[in-house]
Parts: sequence; C-alpha cells; structure tokens
Amino acid sequence: MASSTYGRLPDPLQQRSFGRRRAVCPHPECAVGVAMSLRQQRQVHPTASSNLIVTTDGLVVYEQLWTCDLCHRATVELVGLVNQAATSLEKASESWRRQVWPEPLPRKLSEDVPELVRSLFTDASKAENAGSYRLAGVGYRAAVEEICKDQGATKYTLYDKITELAERGLPQDVVDAMHEARVVGNDSIHHNLEYAADEIADLAKLIEEAAQILYVQPAERKRMAQARRARSEAAKTSK
Ligand SMILES: [Zn+2]
Repeated sequence: MASSTYGRLPDPLQQRSFGRRRAVCPHPECAVGVAMSLRQQRQVHPTASSNLIVTTDGLVVYEQLWTCDLCHRATVELVGLVNQAATSLEKASESWRRQVWPEPLPRKLSEDVPELVRSLFTDASKAENAGSYRLAGVGYRAAVEEICKDQGATKYTLYDKITELAERGLPQDVVDAMHEARVVGNDSIHHNLEYAADEIADLAKLIEEAAQILYVQPAERKRMAQARRARSEAAKTSK
C-alpha cells in the first residue's frame, strides 16, 4: 500500500457502508480485485429542487461514492436508470455505469507483447473508456488481426488467419478468444451493432488472456531458464 494519503476519505466515512460489490480497484497503486463499499449516493438528475419527479425521457442519474476495502481510496461513479418507474436503485435495473473519478486508465498489455498489438489494444481501450463501444469492438478486432500476423498467419481474411493458426496447434482458448474478437469486430463495423459495456470488457479480458498465453508465459519461461543458466555458470566458475 502506498504511504500517500492522496484520494483517501476522512475516517468517519469509512465507518459507514450501504452496499458492496466485487471489482478491480481503479487506482493504479492498488489495482487488485477487491471488495468495494458504497459510501454515499445522491440523485443528480433530475435535481432534488426540480418540480418534476420523473423527466420526460425517464432518465434518473445517481452519483455514487465507493471506497476500496483494501486501500480505502475513493471512486466516483455515475449510474443511469432509464426506467420511468426508476425512483430508487432497488426497484430499477441499471442502464449504464460510468467511472468519472479517478479518470479511467486505458488497458495495457505486457511489454512482452509486440508494440503494434499493444498500441492497437490500448487505443481500443480508450474508445471503450469513452463509451464508443463500436469503435472499441473494431479496435480489439484489429489487435487480434495483428497478433495473427505476428504469429505468422498469411491468409487474407481474419477467419482464415485464425483457422490457419488453429491448424498449427494454437491453444483452443486462444483460438476461441480470437474468433470472439472477430465476430464482435465484424458486427461493429459491418452490421452497425453496438455491444454493451460488459461484453466489450469481457472481450478485452479474453485478448489479455490470449496475449498472456502467446507472449507473456513463453517470455517468463525464457527469463527463468536464463536465470537458471546464469546461476549454474556462476556456481561452476566459483569452484
Ligand atoms: Zn484499492
């Protein structure tokens, strides 16, 4: 845990909680899967002073203050409900949820992944953070196409590239993740179909897992083998 108190809440707030959920802490110094506690919630639209109880579009927006159970840093989110009857969070299903503070950081792949794949993936993630899910879908597909080229696929279409790599023994998990990205990307660019936030987030995680298998794990094995060799050489020369 960082020694800085930046972003921490004053103590009294940490005593109260009226909702919890599992999430990855958005603060980069913490960034682990933890429990988050809801500390405060207020309706910001329509405003409390307004005579209208429900707006004509039926939109009700809440601002929520969450804290990480591990580092106690705060996260502010806006939650939108588009149900006419949505006068309380308990009664309505949530339509969208957006992190407003800290500003969401783009996803990043490991340094072991080729640079062009990494930059396409991060650009797609920026589109995802901005709520441009169609563009994010297209971007994640482009990152997968680049992985295929890097892995030596030569066929013209992405479908054929993935099949080519599958025939060469690419792990089934990776093949499935690539096809998922291909379908989402095609729907986004050709069929004007916009996927939901959680579907795009799931796709990003699939690509992260594929990159882990294809690039990070082999690089780690190589580093460990090098370290073993270096120790072995050192042991020999010291005798
Ligand atoms: Zn945290």
